[in-house]
Amino acid sequence: MTSWNPLRWPLYAQIFAGIALGALAGLISGDTAELAPGLTFDSIYDYIGTLFLNALKMLIVPLIATSIISGVAGLGGPGTPGRLGGKTVLYYMATSTIAILVGLTIVNLVQPGVLNGVPVKELLDFQANSNEVAARVSGAQGGVAEVFLRMFPPNIVMAAAEGQMLGVIVFCILFGYFISRLAKARRDPVTGFFQACFEAMMGVTRFVMRFAPIGVFGLVASVVADVGLGAARPLVVFSITVLAALAVHFLVVMPLVLFFVARVNPLRQYRAMAPALLTAFSTSSSSATLPITMRCVEDSARVSSRTTGFVLPLGATVNMDGTALYECVAVIFIAQAFGVDLTFGVQFTIVVTALLTSIGVAGVPAASFVAIAVILGAVGLPVEAIGVLFVFDRILDMSRTAVNVFGDSCGAVTIARLEGETGVLGQASPLRGSSASAD
Ligand code: ASP
Repeated sequence: MTSWNPLRWPLYAQIFAGIALGALAGLISGDTAELAPGLTFDSIYDYIGTLFLNALKMLIVPLIATSIISGVAGLGGPGTPGRLGGKTVLYYMATSTIAILVGLTIVNLVQPGVLNGVPVKELLDFQANSNEVAARVSGAQGGVAEVFLRMFPPNIVMAAAEGQMLGVIVFCILFGYFISRLAKARRDPVTGFFQACFEAMMGVTRFVMRFAPIGVFGLVASVVADVGLGAARPLVVFSITVLAALAVHFLVVMPLVLFFVARVNPLRQYRAMAPALLTAFSTSSSSATLPITMRCVEDSARVSSRTTGFVLPLGATVNMDGTALYECVAVIFIAQAFGVDLTFGVQFTIVVTALLTSIGVAGVPAASFVAIAVILGAVGLPVEAIGVLFVFDRILDMSRTAVNVFGDSCGAVTIARLEGETGVLGQASPLRGSSASAD
């Protein structure tokens, strides 16, 4: 039964209500109506939106750092043979990179940030000056070689303070990896510490997200007050672009991987995973879906518990094909909206940062916003632009989460086949040349 008390509604319904009320409030007040002399409604909306964005930005460094360190440190846990770990990491990196490239291609073809040949900056009410943004973006880049330099900042604390997240992420991956190499007596307390910090940060994130309906109200109201409902059009085109790119990955790329690498029938995989996909779609959280994903992969796809138990929990945090793809499309959309010239160097930085940040994104609703903020900062685009992405985010989040979960499950099936397991998705014969399962 639907409750009449909005505070009892699920968060996404509250966010929808925030968007609708924000659009209405913005339309009614416009950008000049005043609550008191000199105090416009628009400035109040803006204040609320900024407060919410600040709270989100505050989470970036600790959330990404603890998530990556605890995730990567867990890689070397007991009973994880290096071979299985190596194949899994390789599979995750490769498929996430393909997902990002699919997004990159489609967003460049569709150009959702340009309407009738004009960048949609004004329509979306982006405040920053296009020329300054373009100068900042080109200043932040120096080609591909520069990207590698920024991966290793001379001072990690300064990099974190300046929002140079590429360096922070690389450092955390290395740090997590070498924690995983410690002797058990030393490794366990350190891993436990970072795991606890990560869980606490997730608590802070959930707390901040409780305010998303109000924050989104402010963000939407201030855009609509300034530009009316014209903002909706480019956002619809953007959403369709994201959905199309996700569909290509889900319906073309993944089946090809299943067919050619795992040598299984992709249709069976869709059938086996249907409950997990629907749960992912309705919860927008790959972490919340994990138990169901594991059940589907073990019981329906018939992957061994050894492979499932390693590949899926790891994948739920570090492998996010849909999220990586989305991050890339979103950042390029914002760059297009500012009319920024997307050189190869800029696009390369976006691809690398999307890949690295998708590792650090937590499997909870709207978690990609933290990563998108990181990438915008990394390429010199204004982080404030992220606000408009909230408008249609729920449906995009549902879809990318389903793609994330499907990517993990295909990983489990593929790795199981490469490990020589039989009976996976009804495949009686092992892959030719593969070694027998170590079970
Ligand atoms: N909601 C996504 C997940 O849980 C993460 C995101 O892209 O925001 O997989």
